[in-house]
Amino acid sequence: MNIILLGPPGAGKGTQATRLQAMRGMIQLSTGDMLREAVARGTPVGVKAKQVMEAGELVSDAIVSALIGERLDGAGDQGAIFDGFPRTAHQAEALEMLLAARGRTLDHVIELMVDEEALVERIVGRFTCARCGTPYHRTLKLPRVSGVCDVCSATEFKQRPDDNEQTVRTRMAEYRDKTAPILPYYEDRGLIRRVDGMADVDTVAAQIDAILDGARAP
Ligand SMILES: [Zn+2]
Repeated sequence: MNIILLGPPGAGKGTQATRLQAMRGMIQLSTGDMLREAVARGTPVGVKAKQVMEAGELVSDAIVSALIGERLDGAGDQGAIFDGFPRTAHQAEALEMLLAARGRTLDHVIELMVDEEALVERIVGRFTCARCGTPYHRTLKLPRVSGVCDVCSATEFKQRPDDNEQTVRTRMAEYRDKTAPILPYYEDRGLIRRVDGMADVDTVAAQIDAILDGARAP
């Protein structure tokens, strides 16, 4: 079972990918992580990628493909979760060939659908206790006593610098730009499965399980 997992930042893609690795032994092939790892380990592809990056050039499709091939060859029968690749229809074709050469196919492209306004609200409202890290939310979960942490009674709170509206909207736009070229490619092949990314973590997980287990998504 090989899948592509798509979802904007904040949709819980990382959580779901981590879960699929733990529960099903799937391997996550995130191009960014793979590049860093190949470079660090000095694999043949990593050496080539390093030269390209040090020259200030973009790593080519050929290098990324070789990297994925390297990892697929080292993987057992577990399925793979592709993350961050493909970004273009051309790369999607390359991925198809990479898999076919190894007797594999791409089974599903699972897209975590979100309501952008609700997602912004969800992310921008997050804050944590500065002392113990307990998470709170401006509208969903305020401390019981205003300004005092429920757990440790601290009165200082903090917010991640990334959790502001401008950053969230920019990242959403980047996500749309990156996925727009490949969605039609996979639509044509009937591989897109849409999941409600606004549901709670367990519900999203159940929807993904239903797809992977061949049941009709609820
Ligand atoms: Zn606290």
